[in-house]
Amino acid sequence: MVLTDINVIKRILGKHGFSFSKALGQNFLIDPSVCPRMADMGGVREGTAAIEIGPGLGVLTVELSKRADKVVTIELDTRLIPVLAETLYDCRNVEVINADVLKTDLHALIEEKFSGKSVNVCANLPYYITSPILMYLLESRLPVESITVMVQKEAADRLCARVGSRDSGAITVAVNYYADAKVLFDVGRECFTPSPNVDSCVIKLTVRKEPPVKVSDEEFFFKMVKAAFSQRRKTASNGISSGLGMSKDKVNEALELSGLALNVRAEALTMEELALLSDNLLKVRNNNE
Ligand code: SAM
Repeated sequence: MVLTDINVIKRILGKHGFSFSKALGQNFLIDPSVCPRMADMGGVREGTAAIEIGPGLGVLTVELSKRADKVVTIELDTRLIPVLAETLYDCRNVEVINADVLKTDLHALIEEKFSGKSVNVCANLPYYITSPILMYLLESRLPVESITVMVQKEAADRLCARVGSRDSGAITVAVNYYADAKVLFDVGRECFTPSPNVDSCVIKLTVRKEPPVKVSDEEFFFKMVKAAFSQRRKTASNGISSGLGMSKDKVNEALELSGLALNVRAEALTMEELALLSDNLLKVRNNNE
């Protein structure tokens, strides 16, 4: 069964009385070249396991199944479960879980299903929750080699920007802290049915063993990053001062201690500078308590 063939898709969906849900980000791939590339570039191979989020009709699942020893795929839409039972009938190494990925304990899942194998995540993500899903996977320090995902083009630009460049944002810093993010290839809107209003891009996050910078308080670092980027047209100092409830004088003291200009913008700061600033803000704050 060729799951990228529009006639096959129509037949299966018609048989199950299925209609696409915009709210669940349901745009299914119909370009046959995309999924094999994603699976190969995502490091899905013999001797490893794969986790997929949102299989839809199973078009990528089939490619993961051909390459990995075991695949677990998590689909929220209950209506797709009987469809997947049909389309993945021959894929004996695939387990479909009907759940919301954000409410799934993936650590427990990996331990229970994959018995020590290297794991890669590979998915065409529902775009309405791209950032929450990626942050959930990264912040929970999921023991995976990499996360290869299709996301909206604009999201890819932000996620894979260089920290310290104009396109960077709080999410760029957060992703970079946990992983090395790279753009793999673009996917046009015509590669999906129904065709979305945006172009897409496949990116790969190779999970780091160690963060690229050391900070004395990780939670404070991320709070500061969020605050620094919260007012994009203003200086980092303004955002930090209002976001963290610190006086402008104290924030300026920390900026000076870090050798940074008082009017620097968050997007101009490198990972090392952000880390240093975070540690110095803590020092200044603690000195005055
Ligand atoms: N993998 C398929 C493909 O490439 O054709 C479908 C991808 S479609 C962009 C996203 C899929 O994610 C849909 O099947 C949707 O039902 C599912 N989904 C949406 N929200 C989800 C959630 N919170 N947890 C798991 N799956 C979800």
